Amino acid sequence: ALKAVDIQHSFAELSVLRGVSLEVRPGEVVAVTGPSGSGKSTLLHLLGGLDTPQGGEVWWAGERVDTLDTQVRASRRAGRVGLVFQHHYLLEDLNVLDNVMIPSRLAGQPDAGRARALLERVGLAGRDRDFPGVLSGGERQRVAVARALAAGPAVVLADEPTGSLDRANARLVAELLVSLAREHGAGVLLVTHDERLAAFADRVLHLLDGEFTDELPDYT
Ligand code: ATP
Ligand code: MG
Repeated sequence: ALKAVDIQHSFAELSVLRGVSLEVRPGEVVAVTGPSGSGKSTLLHLLGGLDTPQGGEVWWAGERVDTLDTQVRASRRAGRVGLVFQHHYLLEDLNVLDNVMIPSRLAGQPDAGRARALLERVGLAGRDRDFPGVLSGGERQRVAVARALAAGPAVVLADEPTGSLDRANARLVAELLVSLAREHGAGVLLVTHDERLAAFADRVLHLLDGEFTDELPDYT
């Protein structure tokens, strides 16, 4: 569903990623942990095609995308990669249903039925016409999860998706993200500080000094 080969990226003198490779298969949940500043968000941005890596390759559903023009890549992303961030990034001017329909519209196949089914699945049936401003933090993140799945992506990339939620809501959102992705056969790549969340993963990768280590680094 997602493949990265030897990703390298620097900001000026700072070499953040020094050759990171990974693969997320359909239906698989992979967590990425690592200290603050280790490059987790940078990696997710590159894998999601929001930035272009300085070295290496990014593949979505069998197509290499880091070499594509940004516009072309954005249109490819809609039906292939779902994104969830710590802060929900819902569009405040669109109601809940229209927010969830953004990816399917971008992919050129608006699908209100699927959007409504996903909203029902995350416990927000009947909230279609509400605007993000009236939702609680947990509800907004559930909308973001529904939106991430709305165009049938091969993989969902989530950067601290529960970072702004209390324990109970964090657990609910994590469970929904993982179970919806599994139901739809999508892989999940999850960046998290939270060990309870990492426990949902089939595999955990630790990013340290710009590379993945298999051993849990001691950064307490
Ligand atoms: P956290 O756990 O705190 O979210 P992170 O692992 O997500 O950290 P990144 O946000 O990827 O870390 O940042 C990695 C490093 O790259 C940091 O030192 C950061 O300051 C630097 N960095 C990130 N984005 C930029 C940018 N656009 N310009 C310059 N430096 C950047
Ligand atoms: Mg980060």
